[in-house]
Amino acid sequence: MKSDRKYALVTGGSRGIGRAVCLELASKGYNIIINYVSNMEAASQTAALVEEKGVGCELLQFDVSDENQVEKALGQWNEKHPDDYIEVLVNNAGVRADALMIFMEDEQWNRVLHTTLNGFFYVTRRLLKPMVTKRYGRIVNIASLSGLKGLPGQANYSAAKAALIGATKAVAQEVARRGVTVNAVAPGFIATDMTKDLDEAALKATIPMNRFGRPEEIASVVGFLASEAASYVTGEVISINGGLYS
Ligand code: NDP
Repeated sequence: MKSDRKYALVTGGSRGIGRAVCLELASKGYNIIINYVSNMEAASQTAALVEEKGVGCELLQFDVSDENQVEKALGQWNEKHPDDYIEVLVNNAGVRADALMIFMEDEQWNRVLHTTLNGFFYVTRRLLKPMVTKRYGRIVNIASLSGLKGLPGQANYSAAKAALIGATKAVAQEVARRGVTVNAVAPGFIATDMTKDLDEAALKATIPMNRFGRPEEIASVVGFLASEAASYVTGEVISINGGLYS
């Protein structure tokens, strides 16, 4: 059953989509754990906004792609909260390092795969066990249109997000009997720091809604998938792209 003190962890919660997800889950009454890797200022701003919603908030700095950092940070959280567990996990941390395949360097390939895919693996493996034991949990993975359709110049990113979708479907089946759901959302073009270098005017002409999405438009769907109301939805990937691809 659900615990009274509810905690949600959002990786990459400091900015963009992650920040909007933190605020959405805070408005649903969750105490929020904001993970970030380097931008403490943005993380602190998000924390202040979360606290305005009247829930608790903690910052948890670690690099999701570094197994030791993940284990250490989450281990310390457990020591501070021996009677609690994290019942909602949003795997949101991600990076882009675009290049055409013939020019792609090892570092670009590895950075994107390690952050999205290894990050998902290290954090989810650590938090899944208590969810299964307590027989309640919600995991939402932030995938991408790029992982469904493939986008040129993003072989690394498309591969990482497609793999994340595969893992979502596999783990969903592993834990379905234990009251834990695992779903993904696949955003199209969303106005955040990640997309600020793109040619928005040219790209939006390709989107039926003729605009980029807002982080809050991702967060509202994540909030639903993270809720008790979504109890029979698992292994699903929901596109949120203004009609760009279905
Ligand atoms: P932003 O670039 O605005 O924010 C990225 C976030 O991820 C930051 O909070 C950053 O932390 C964090 N982060 C990056 N690397 C790590 C790491 N190694 N460990 C921990 N945290 C890390 O991105 P968006 O908000 O746009 O994207 C969020 C997610 O949504 C990503 O997974 C992205 O791939 C996905 N997405 C985005 C789309 C878009 O159009 N914007 C479209 C489809 C999917 P810090 O602040 O410390 O740097």
